[in-house]
Amino acid sequence: MSSNSRAMSETKRGVLVVISGPSGAGKTSICDELLKRIPDSQWSVSVTTRKPRGREVDGQHYRFISQEEFQRMVEHDELLEHAVYLGKWYGTPWAPIEETVAAGRVVILEIDVQGGAQIAVRMPESVRVFVLPPTMETLKARLEGRQTETETLQQKRLAEADGEIAFARTSGHYPYIITNDILEDSVARVMEIVEREMHK
Ligand code: 5GP
Repeated sequence: MSSNSRAMSETKRGVLVVISGPSGAGKTSICDELLKRIPDSQWSVSVTTRKPRGREVDGQHYRFISQEEFQRMVEHDELLEHAVYLGKWYGTPWAPIEETVAAGRVVILEIDVQGGAQIAVRMPESVRVFVLPPTMETLKARLEGRQTETETLQQKRLAEADGEIAFARTSGHYPYIITNDILEDSVARVMEIVEREMHK
């Protein structure tokens, strides 16, 4: 064994943190704070066939790819999980996650519950947190406040939310369910969960 591979095998594995929840629950704000506070943590950039929204930057928020490219990645088993959400495909490239976790670092992933369920099976050691809005009224108000989307799309996201919440509660794939009322409290709660898991 080379000294490099020995060093690699002696490194304690990091943690994959999966954050799910309905659109508008505040997942992205929680993820942004986690990235700032957890040293060396890394954001997992998903691939998607949907079009960029607002100020989204290709390669930073998502990699925006064609349906053909997405299909190719699925066929080559390059995705840890993938799912369709409102007619568009979303997926998580596997290689960067494996490299980062093997190096002992934390990877943060924001995905829907279908993806979370696949990860629960393929990487059961991952930490999966579901974020609830304080009330459905708050969720509605947050979605309506998004200037970048049509009203129809906002309605669809709202309709999708009920199913996602029920799934998170009953599937057993989300050991941690938190209510995002005050952002600071939610971030502190997730930090606590991650720290506990890191020291297992
Ligand atoms: P949005 O279009 O609002 O960015 O995302 C729509 C939904 O897709 C959200 O619930 C978001 O968390 C989820 N999502 C984003 N990336 C991925 C991914 O790589 N895989 C899966 N399964 N869902 C994703």
